[in-house]
Amino acid sequence: MAELLQGIAASDGIAIAKAYRLVQPDLSFDKKTVEDSDKEIKRLQGALKNSSDELQIIRDKAAESLGEEEAQVFDAHLMVLSDPELISSIEDNIRTNKVNTESALKDVTDMFIGMFEAMDDNPYMQERAADIKDVTKRILSHLLGVKLPNPSMINEEVVVVAHDLTPSDTAQLDRRYVKAFVTDIGGRTSHSAIMARSLEIPAIVGTKEITDKVNEGDILAVNGIEGDVIIHPTDSQIADYQTKAKAFADQKSEWEKLKNAQTVTADGKHFELAANIGTPKDLEGVKNNGGEAIGLYRTEFLYMDSPDFPTEEAQYTAYKAVLEGMDGKPVVVRTMDIGGDKELPYLTLPHEMNPFLGYRAIRICLDRDDMFRTQLRALLRASVHGQLRIMFPMIATLQEFRAAKTMLEEEKAKLEKEGTKVASNIQVGIMIEIPAAAVIADKFAKEVDFFSVGTNDLIQYTMAADRMNERVSYLYQPYNPAILRLLKNVIDAAHAEGKWAGMCGEMAGDQTAVPLLVGLGLDEFSMSATSVLKTRSLMKQLDTAKMTELANKAINDCDTADEVVALVESYLKA
Ligand code: PEP
Ligand code: MG
Repeated sequence: MAELLQGIAASDGIAIAKAYRLVQPDLSFDKKTVEDSDKEIKRLQGALKNSSDELQIIRDKAAESLGEEEAQVFDAHLMVLSDPELISSIEDNIRTNKVNTESALKDVTDMFIGMFEAMDDNPYMQERAADIKDVTKRILSHLLGVKLPNPSMINEEVVVVAHDLTPSDTAQLDRRYVKAFVTDIGGRTSHSAIMARSLEIPAIVGTKEITDKVNEGDILAVNGIEGDVIIHPTDSQIADYQTKAKAFADQKSEWEKLKNAQTVTADGKHFELAANIGTPKDLEGVKNNGGEAIGLYRTEFLYMDSPDFPTEEAQYTAYKAVLEGMDGKPVVVRTMDIGGDKELPYLTLPHEMNPFLGYRAIRICLDRDDMFRTQLRALLRASVHGQLRIMFPMIATLQEFRAAKTMLEEEKAKLEKEGTKVASNIQVGIMIEIPAAAVIADKFAKEVDFFSVGTNDLIQYTMAADRMNERVSYLYQPYNPAILRLLKNVIDAAHAEGKWAGMCGEMAGDQTAVPLLVGLGLDEFSMSATSVLKTRSLMKQLDTAKMTELANKAINDCDTADEVVALVESYLKA
């Protein structure tokens, strides 16, 4: 029987394919007394061999698709699998305690994990603990005869179904095979959703129950534009989705005609339409979609894709590639924003109750200034290869901005003293994503070169509604007059000091928000590359004087977000 589930539309596009469950299996087992230790040791050896064969395949695939460096983590797992000390401890445990292999394996690996984790000032040992945890799961899966899901092993067209996807899970999805993904939890601005948009993989998040309802291999029809998914669609529903897919493809080819066009409103005013990227590889998407600049380069992905802190040289190479790739057009590079939903395997941070309110971004950077200075040096060195703008994330106070800027100036002075050239025209700005900074934007505007509003965070902090939590997604309201008033305050404050104000949160590409933002006088709009052309198309229809009137009405006369949406719709129709 066909069943319809509604979720949050997270990435446009339509797909029909069978389900691949990316769900951790149940690896629980009972501890048993076993007399025949030899038999248990044979089971252990069989599971070790199967795990090793499987890991070897995964390793080779990772090397092929992601590169040798990425594959190294699997080498570490293979080493654990053949570690004689570990294996003999498990065998001894089986013989001495007369227990089943599962139980001996768990006892011994828990002991090693505990020992390594106790050395919490040693990142190498922390990684070893993580490797042993992963390998234990794999061996257990073979002992229990259950399958561990692995996105890199997918080699046919599927819709990935998961409880949640971390940014690193999403990075492993191969667009050739993964036609869409659907999750139980998550919000439109969670980083997996943002990545899905740059990878152009249709996605629906926050369905609450997709993993309960879908079995491996079930056929799913996914509409990422409207946020609905049909389990076991009927023939006529499939035909309907195919028609929608065709209409979407036609719409995309219409937009593509604007690839090399100027971004101008109906009354001829130009707005800068920039794109957000996570890695130099995303430049291709920016070019294909006619992005005029990079309004946000999320550099933390460079850190997340690396087995250890990326060196100054590795960072310099990446920043140079982006600056050169943009041929002198502006590139706003945001300094590392780890924390929240983005983790680094080699930087163990204490578990926090509220990671989005915790040790994150500039807070880590000012505390770990060795790491921050390495990034600043790499950026400064790369600055001669294009038009660099440096932006600090999660700024709450002027002191934070001043401290970060002082470090930047110190590193610049050092480099120049060493005889290294640094560009003289680097703009230095901040993200406005904490309400405190938005409220005193007039003070910040005196000291920064620009603002870029990070609405993904600004909305969650203003409305006190976690951007990742589908249960409170009704409160995640970009069009709430409270948000619009904050935005007006920020944009006016920038303009009063002759500075520019941009936006790099997802709201910048939201088709209902764009008319309001044009009316508020936002200077630069930066979004997922895939939203650039439809926004250019929309802007062509807007008249700035009318949009100013619209924005003023929304701010002064509307009481609720719904009223604002209705008002925008009435203006667009008129
Ligand atoms: C934002 O908060 O709007 C933003 C662009 O940063 P991120 O999504 O990476 O937190
Ligand atoms: Mg943010």
